[in-house]
Amino acid sequence: MENKNIWNKYGDQEEKELVQLGEDYKTFLNRGKTERECVTEAVALAEAKGYRDLSGIIERGETLSAGDKVYAVNMKKSIALFIIGERPMTDGMNILGAHIDSPRLDIKQNPLYEDTDFAYLDTHYYGGIKKYQWVASPLALHGVVVKKDGTVITVAIGEDDSDPVFCITDLLIHLAGEQMSKKASVVIEGEDLNLLVGSRPMKKTDEAADKKEKELVKAQVLAILKEKYGMEEEDFLSAELEVVPAGKARDCGLDRSMILAYGQDDRICAYTSLAAILDTEKVDKTACCLLVDKEEIGSVGATGMTSRFFENTVAEIMERTGQYSELGLRRCLARSRMLSSDVSAGFDPTYAGVFEKKNAAFLGRGMSFNKFTGSRGKNGSNDANAEYIADLRRIFDEANVSFQTAELGKVDVGGGGTIAYILAEYGMEVIDSGLPVLNMHAMYELSSKADVYEAVRGYKAFLKNA
Ligand code: MN
Ligand code: MN
Repeated sequence: MENKNIWNKYGDQEEKELVQLGEDYKTFLNRGKTERECVTEAVALAEAKGYRDLSGIIERGETLSAGDKVYAVNMKKSIALFIIGERPMTDGMNILGAHIDSPRLDIKQNPLYEDTDFAYLDTHYYGGIKKYQWVASPLALHGVVVKKDGTVITVAIGEDDSDPVFCITDLLIHLAGEQMSKKASVVIEGEDLNLLVGSRPMKKTDEAADKKEKELVKAQVLAILKEKYGMEEEDFLSAELEVVPAGKARDCGLDRSMILAYGQDDRICAYTSLAAILDTEKVDKTACCLLVDKEEIGSVGATGMTSRFFENTVAEIMERTGQYSELGLRRCLARSRMLSSDVSAGFDPTYAGVFEKKNAAFLGRGMSFNKFTGSRGKNGSNDANAEYIADLRRIFDEANVSFQTAELGKVDVGGGGTIAYILAEYGMEVIDSGLPVLNMHAMYELSSKADVYEAVRGYKAFLKNA
């Protein structure tokens, strides 16, 4: 069996759509560099398509019926969108799932310090990263600072051309003899990921400078934070600030066939799933798109997939459509079908040795299905049922959607997990799917525009016909 490159299957009109979708996807990546920003953007896109906030509907005691479109946001960090289907919800839903958190550096709770006329913010990395990749590169700061009175200050510094950026320093090659002989995992230590944020001392004439004879660079940084954001040093305690690569998503290649950007794991699957449901109107079975937080650290917490948020939201929707019962909810979940999408490891000829070529995902060959993921003998994997895969083959073949099947690398080379097994606990059919990327978890990940386009086609076919 061989999967074909899909680029030349498109006519003029489809190619136009493909290019436009690539632009829309890059815009989403530029606006959504944190899970919060992705939720904000998803809400804006959904409302423009007539989706209404479920919490308002519950508050006003309104009902829902077939064709209605609603969304529910969980703590500003995850979101579920629904199109109510014609059939009873106890027949199950068709669910698209993906995650919107990405590897990054989080600012610690007591982060600011001065050392030898430099001011730094201390970080703790989030998710699996090669720490050495994060040095000597322009970085941006995104997130929120919440004051004691509840005021939320939104921060995004380093994205406008006129903005400053930040940086983590690396050791010059001339003095790096010892460093260069270290294992890559410790070339840059986690505790050394110190974000450089200033070097200019406060003027001695300033009142604050009089009080603080020492640490005048830190004092100056605090004065700027106070002036621009109205925040005090203590406000770092209740802040969520994420350090991410600065700058925009870019076309890659002379032929502009690829996209190089931060956070494509897993916003490439999140965006294509979102685009698919937003471009879907009437559905037979209730359609759902679920975009969750915290996948990169084990799907834990109130905003991760293991939270009851999704189950509770489905219960609320059944209640609003007059279909709720405890057994009904269980039936709805157990009879649902899901494409749990996360990026796959795209085959990289430079690192061919870690792949088994017959069972690898390739850029430009369409969306990818992983029957199982996991590591060391499929450990920790959701292993999709053959019957379900057979039906997916039917759906995608009928819609002329190209897909490939893959494993994450050679047996015993490594592995990884997704949110698939968590939904599978309801007894529903779930398969790991998604798009291949190169440089996964690096500061800039690489994807194919053709795969983005094909994925949206595939997700739409699934929502309609699964
Ligand atoms: Mn992922
Ligand atoms: Mn990941």
